[in-house]
Amino acid sequence: MKSISVPALAWMMCIVVTGVCSMSSADEPCRWTVPDVLRRVPPLSNNYTGRLPMITWPAFVMSTNDTSFREKKPLPAEIYRELARRGLTQRIPLNESYLEMAKAIQAAGAAVVFVEGWGGNGPYELGHDPLHKLPPGFQIAKGDRHYPCPLLFAGWQAKADEVRNTLRKYRDAGIYVSAAWLDWEVEPLVWSKGRWEQARACSRCVTLFPPPVLESWDEYVKFIMSLRSDLFSAYLAAPILEIYPACSVTDWEKVYSTPERPTPSCWGTWKFPPMSLGLFTAANPVAYGNDIYYQEHWSTNWNYPLDQKHMDRLYTSIMLGQVSAHAENSIKLNPHKQCVPWVCRYCPDVDDEKVPILSRTRYREILRHIWLRGADSMQIFNEPRPRHPEIAVEEVEDAVSVYDEMLQYRQFLEEGRIMCTDVPEVTWDGPIWSGLCLQNEAIVRAFTQGKNETAFTIQPWKDAKEIQLTAPPEGQTWLLRKDETEVTAEPANKQR
Ligand SMILES: [Zn+2]
Repeated sequence: MKSISVPALAWMMCIVVTGVCSMSSADEPCRWTVPDVLRRVPPLSNNYTGRLPMITWPAFVMSTNDTSFREKKPLPAEIYRELARRGLTQRIPLNESYLEMAKAIQAAGAAVVFVEGWGGNGPYELGHDPLHKLPPGFQIAKGDRHYPCPLLFAGWQAKADEVRNTLRKYRDAGIYVSAAWLDWEVEPLVWSKGRWEQARACSRCVTLFPPPVLESWDEYVKFIMSLRSDLFSAYLAAPILEIYPACSVTDWEKVYSTPERPTPSCWGTWKFPPMSLGLFTAANPVAYGNDIYYQEHWSTNWNYPLDQKHMDRLYTSIMLGQVSAHAENSIKLNPHKQCVPWVCRYCPDVDDEKVPILSRTRYREILRHIWLRGADSMQIFNEPRPRHPEIAVEEVEDAVSVYDEMLQYRQFLEEGRIMCTDVPEVTWDGPIWSGLCLQNEAIVRAFTQGKNETAFTIQPWKDAKEIQLTAPPEGQTWLLRKDETEVTAEPANKQR
C-alpha cells in the first residue's frame, strides 16, 4: 500500500471496502472496467501461488474511455495486486514498448504474460518477395487474398530474430516472463481451398513442394498442418525458450492430434491430421460458446426446439470436443505438456439473435470439466460485445469462481491422471463425467443432461473395486478414496 498515492488509495478503498464506487453504482449496467471487475469478482479464497495466472482478452482499463493501455501507461500497483488476488494478470503484447508496464506488473507482484493476436500473411511478409508467383490472368477466389509461398522461411527467420531481440531487452531489464501465449492466426493455413489453388498455380511452389502434395486437397491439408506445427515450433517457441527456458509457451489452437483420435477443429467442423506440439510447452485447445454451432451442427433429426436447454447440449458437445481429444492424445504422446485453453461463454460469430446464448450454469459446468481434463490455466476470450457488453465481466466472474472451486483440489490439478475424455453426443442423456486420479484418491465431477439423476460405474484403480456414482442434472463433485481394494465416495462440498 505504501507506494500508492493518497487519492488512488481512497479510490481503491471505495471499491474494496464498500463494493460500490461513484464511477459505477450497483444499478448501472456492468461494463468492462477494473472497478466493475473488482466489484463483481471476489478474490480467490484458495492459494494459487506458484501457478499460472489467467488472462483476459481486453486490456484492463479504469473506465470505458481510458486509453492508458494503448498509451502503454501502467495502472497503479494496487490494481495489478487486486487482479492478482483474483488469479488474473494484465496480458501484454510481445513488444518492447510494453517494458515499463511489465516492470510495473512485476513490481506489484503479478505475473508477466505475453499475449498478442496477429492475422494475415504474418511473418512471411518480413521476407523478400514472399507471395505466390501466379500466372497472368489467375483469378484469386472471392474471400481469398494473395497468399505467400508456405515453404519460404526467410520472413520467419526475421521474426524469430525480432522475438529474440525483444525478449533480451525484457531479460536485461530484470523481467521474468511467466508465459507467452500467442494468438498468431497467420499463414500457413488451410481455411480455404483457394490457398491450395494458388500454391498449385505458383511457379515457385511447384518446384518447392513434393509433387504429390499439390495434387490433392487432402494431402495439402496434411502437409500444411504438419509444416505449421514445425514452423511455429522452430521460429516462435524456440526463440522464446532460448531466452526464457521456463516460460509457458503456446499459440492459437496448438493441440495434439493422432490418426487414432483425430482432434476436431475448435468449431467441430473438421478433424485435424496428425499434429505435434514440437517445442511448445503448452497446448491451447479452444472452448467457445459460439453461435456458429447452430448453423454448422443443428440437426432437425433431433426434433428439438431451439431453446436454451437444447442449445446448451450443442454447446457442451462442441466445447468439450477439442480439449478432450487433445487430452487423450497428450496422455499418450506427452502427458507433461501444459494445457492452457481459450474459453468463453459468448462468442457471437454469426450474431444470430434467435440462438440462445450458453447459460451461465452450463458454462460453469463445462469449465469444471475442462479443468478436470488437464487445464493448467485459462485464457478468457471476453471481448466486450455491442449487444451484451455486461457479459465481458460475467465471463471473468464465472472463470475465476470455477478456478477457485477447482483450486480446492489443487494437488489433483497438478498431479492427477486424467480419467475420462469422452465427449457427449448432443442427444446423450447419460452421465457426463470427468476426473483426476491420484494414488489413493480421486476427484470426479458428474452431471446429466437428462431429466433425472443417472447412476454410473467407474473403476479408477485397476487393483481396486469398481464404484457406483450418481450424476444429477445440477452436477455433483465426488471425492473418492481407495483403501486396499475398497473404494468409497463422498460428495465434495461446493465452495460457494
Ligand atoms: Zn508459391
